[in-house]
Amino acid sequence: GETIVLKNVTRRYGNFTAIDRLSLQVEAGEFISFLGPSGSGKSTTLMMIAGFETPDGGSIAIGGRDVTAVPPYRRNIGMVFQNYALFPHLTVAENIGFSLKQRGVAKPEIATQVRRALDLVRLGEYGTRYPQQLSGGQQQRIAIARAIIFNPPVLLMDEPLSALDKQLREEMQLEIKHLHQRLGITFVYVTHDQREALVMSDRVAVMDRGKVEQLASPADLYGAP
Ligand code: ADP
Ligand code: ADP
Repeated sequence: GETIVLKNVTRRYGNFTAIDRLSLQVEAGEFISFLGPSGSGKSTTLMMIAGFETPDGGSIAIGGRDVTAVPPYRRNIGMVFQNYALFPHLTVAENIGFSLKQRGVAKPEIATQVRRALDLVRLGEYGTRYPQQLSGGQQQRIAIARAIIFNPPVLLMDEPLSALDKQLREEMQLEIKHLHQRLGITFVYVTHDQREALVMSDRVAVMDRGKVEQLASPADLYGAP
């Protein structure tokens, strides 16, 4: 895992300040959640870490390297979205192998890595299926496998479970937590679900109106059990 350091990061949309001089240090290998109501700036912050949004002020460093002006595809970061964003015309294996193919990795190596990633998300038998043949939870596991295939030091997730029903969501929370323990990389997770943040994270950054209001472990935030 790598550290992520945000210093006085600001993002404006016209006259509106969505992110207001936000500073935060994420430790290497940590599981941190951004928790807050809709509109508090969680996604915008994540998108700036990913490089899909550019700050109007301040700086972002990943692994000690300033990436403020580095485009997303050169940041070596995995990303999982709420809506999975799988390619419908590609098989599960092709979806997972996509980024390696883009990078010109040789076919046998892609096949090996796809198998490893499928096993990590416990979908070893599903490589030849198409996304629409799978359940929502399975599709999200495929999206996670696709995001970790190139061994990124950082994985970003934006409300990955909010399209799933309650029971599946709780299963997936534990699965993602176990995956974090196995991979040992830095996880940044966006959610508006307090329980989810408390169950999964090492630390929770509570956001409100473009600022981090509180930053603490689940036990320190809401009292040790
Ligand atoms: P969250 O993820 O916590 O729901 P967002 O980061 O999506 O919040 O949004 C933070 C604020 O910035 C919101 O008030 C939202 O309306 C505004 N915002 C986000 N993206 C844009 C955009 N492209 N144009 C204008 N305003 C935006
Ligand atoms: P073979 O038919 O020899 O298995 P493929 O080209 O079908 O070769 O697949 C080799 C690997 O390349 C697959 O595991 C898959 O991950 C990846 N792959 C194949 N086609 C695509 C594609 N269109 N987009 C992304 N990845 C692909």
